[in-house]
Amino acid sequence: MNIICCIKQVPSTDSVRFDREKGTLIREGVTSEINPYDLFALEAGVALKEQCGGELTVLTMGPPQAEEALREAISRGADNGVLLSDRAFAGSDTLATSYILAKAIEKLGTWDLVLCGKQTTDGDTAQVGPGLAQRLGVPCATCVESIELIEEGKVRINRRLEEGTYTLACQLPMVMTIEMGANSPRIPSLRGKMRAKKAEIPCLTAESIGVDQVKIGLNGSPTRVSSTYVPEFSGKHELLQGSPKEQVDALIGILREAGIL
Ligand SMILES: Cc1cc2nc3c(=O)[nH]c(=O)nc-3n(C[C@H](O)[C@H](O)[C@H](O)COP(=O)(O)OP(=O)(O)OC[C@H]3O[C@@H](n4cnc5c(N)ncnc54)[C@H](O)[C@@H]3O)c2cc1C
Repeated sequence: MNIICCIKQVPSTDSVRFDREKGTLIREGVTSEINPYDLFALEAGVALKEQCGGELTVLTMGPPQAEEALREAISRGADNGVLLSDRAFAGSDTLATSYILAKAIEKLGTWDLVLCGKQTTDGDTAQVGPGLAQRLGVPCATCVESIELIEEGKVRINRRLEEGTYTLACQLPMVMTIEMGANSPRIPSLRGKMRAKKAEIPCLTAESIGVDQVKIGLNGSPTRVSSTYVPEFSGKHELLQGSPKEQVDALIGILREAGIL
């Protein structure tokens, strides 16, 4: 089975800083890591490859240093890494990102399954996986927590949703986004680290994947972040005391006083 796993390098959650004037994340001088959700997608891919054979390629779009994320993924069990890096990609929103990733996947040749994390810890939209499936013209299953091969080209999956777990039989090819906590991501092995160090990571550009320049980058992105801010918490806090009934009565009194009821 040929599996492609999309991973994104994000600012480490303990070093995220915010430019309050510009309303943007400060990305310079910040340590980066593989998006934590993507480690579960990667582990699902490695486990499936071990079960069925085949190849697992990790793909990322980002600045040149995103190559580190690909090497780490190889040290955790992926076979190959492919970097998508070009100044023309900068500022791409989820629509443009899924278009660029889809064009790169088409360029990589035949595949059976594309895995993504459920969402990222920076953009946090959870749109890229479903957007990618739409672009590739295949079905998408989100919130997947387990994948098992039933027969050639067919898998059984569990999707964890709020109301319960859905078990589905699915025909490949398709895109899946993997739920946080779906498995226990393995740590890089010594052998894996050595393989990662030596791995050749090809870098694809806008020209090499043949994207329409009008659909990429800031100009090709229809969504705009008009403003961002860190919510400021202010106001007094009052803990209501007494029995549940007394607390409800006190709350109704407060809401009436404030003109809300
Ligand atoms: C408010 C806001 C501000 C932003 N500001 C900036 C900015 O200043 N600079 C900037 O560069 N970007 C910025 N972006 C991010 C940019 O729009 C996203 O990086 C990109 O479109 C991916 O969206 P996401 O992070 O929400 O991914 P999601 O849809 O949450 O990701 C789901 C999965 O898709 C895959 N995936 C997502 N992105 C990639 C990728 N690049 N390569 C490979 N796989 C991927 C991963 O498997 C991931 O787990 C911003 C986004 C938002 C919402």
